[in-house]
Amino acid sequence: MPRANRRRRDLDARPLAASSEVATEPYAGRSWYVRRLSGASATRAYRCPGCHQEIRVGTAHVVVWPAEGTGGLEERRHWHARCWGTRHATPPGHGTRR
Ligand SMILES: [Zn+2]
Repeated sequence: MPRANRRRRDLDARPLAASSEVATEPYAGRSWYVRRLSGASATRAYRCPGCHQEIRVGTAHVVVWPAEGTGGLEERRHWHARCWGTRHATPPGHGTRR
């Protein structure tokens, strides 16, 4: 087999999750893709599911979405990086206000 062909196939076979920007992490019994956004790319405000506070425009944070199932875009969630890091201490549906 010519060398050029082999190189191209290797590129195509590289999974998306292997990209340096996206990690896979567990939450609520599922696997989630996690992408870290810089403040410069945070152009909208979001509600963080961890603390129920606003993530303000220009704040570096993470966006997560299910690695399995149909959801994808509709199930995307934006979290404060700190809240995502401590998510196991605040189960989904917890509902307690501070
Ligand atoms: Zn938060």
